[in-house]
Amino acid sequence: MASESLKVLIINSGSSSLKFSFLEAGAGTVLAAGIAERLNTDEAAFKITAPADSRREECIPRGGHRKAVQMAVGFLTQDIKFNVDAIGHRVVHGGEWFRSAVRIDQDVLDKIDALSSLAPLHNPHSAEGIRLTLEFYPGRPQVAVFDTAFHHTLPSEVFYYAIPYEFYEKYRIRRYGFHGTSYQFITQEIARRLNRPAKELQFVAAHLGNGCSATAVRNGESVDTTMGLTPLEGLVMGTRSGDVDPTLHQTLQRLTGARLAEITDWLTKKSGLLGLSGVTHDMRGILEAMERNNLRAKLAFDVFCFRLARALMALTASLDRVDALVFTGGIGENSVPVRADVLGRLKILGCQVDPALNAEHGKSSGGRITRAGVPAYVIPTNEELMITREVARVLGKDQETG
Ligand code: ADP
Repeated sequence: MASESLKVLIINSGSSSLKFSFLEAGAGTVLAAGIAERLNTDEAAFKITAPADSRREECIPRGGHRKAVQMAVGFLTQDIKFNVDAIGHRVVHGGEWFRSAVRIDQDVLDKIDALSSLAPLHNPHSAEGIRLTLEFYPGRPQVAVFDTAFHHTLPSEVFYYAIPYEFYEKYRIRRYGFHGTSYQFITQEIARRLNRPAKELQFVAAHLGNGCSATAVRNGESVDTTMGLTPLEGLVMGTRSGDVDPTLHQTLQRLTGARLAEITDWLTKKSGLLGLSGVTHDMRGILEAMERNNLRAKLAFDVFCFRLARALMALTASLDRVDALVFTGGIGENSVPVRADVLGRLKILGCQVDPALNAEHGKSSGGRITRAGVPAYVIPTNEELMITREVARVLGKDQETG
């Protein structure tokens, strides 16, 4: 099968949700997409979001991941009647084993399972998604695409924590970085837009969605990033705290009597924009509350923007020059005030926002939103398309060598 016409089902299996999309590799056209949410609860629901004329939502009380995959497969085979040529899985943690996407076999699946010790909140769900699609599509090629893989080039001074070395040796405790699929796409896309080879580009990109991170890319490779062992490190996010003092767990345990797991839960699900504002985890909601003069929402916005600006400057320590700053993800692509505030804090890079270009997200200028200094760009990410390209690449390579 020519890789251009390959039709790929992409599965993104999380703790309480399972997203699927179905793309044609060549044009990157989305043929179908949907999401099952609030899985294993009374409110579990399965939603078709594409194609437009098939949009619908169905309640699947107590339905879990199996039910979600079953419904997605049923929709693809019975409703839109496309043949699935291959399956791509978004896997959060690839540890040190996986430096790029790989075709899934039993050994790969065992390793993804084993990495649950480093990523207990993520990898068990990825592994479950893989097992289910292997069952529903036996014999169909399946590829794992890892969020950590693009960061396999991090130099040692970036990925080691300054803790006793044996924790690295024994347990592989180190910084890994995440959102790699998005940064890989952004690297290809900025090279295309600037009409320069990725190997010659040095830039800093911020992926700002519900999870937020920023990465320095040097000659097409990740050389520093804000997330670490887990996606909790680094920037302030929707519900995640980002960096805190490492003794915070102990202090909160002493003061509140809470268990460690409960405190991790506070830092993961009740902190960030939500924790500071007390209003919402959602940047749109924060901006609306600020318009109503909500001071805690303004505080959350300020902490979010300051911490991001500080991180962007810190990431420049890994570069000789900054060819571009890139904003992506739901907040990066859509939030005019966040970009204006952050760039306003980067005067040391000479950044001068062009308010008109920023207001239209750089649509008329190839994404550029600055008029002087280091140029800043808004570039919509497309992780599904990147996963589809990786599936086509891995399977194409298999054909060459097989
Ligand atoms: P995920 O990480 O789940 O993929 P997204 O990339 O969709 O999330 O980003 C979600 C974030 O983007 C939310 O904080 C949301 O408020 C924000 N966002 C989306 N649209 C806008 C907008 N028009 N203005 C400000 N923030 C926005």
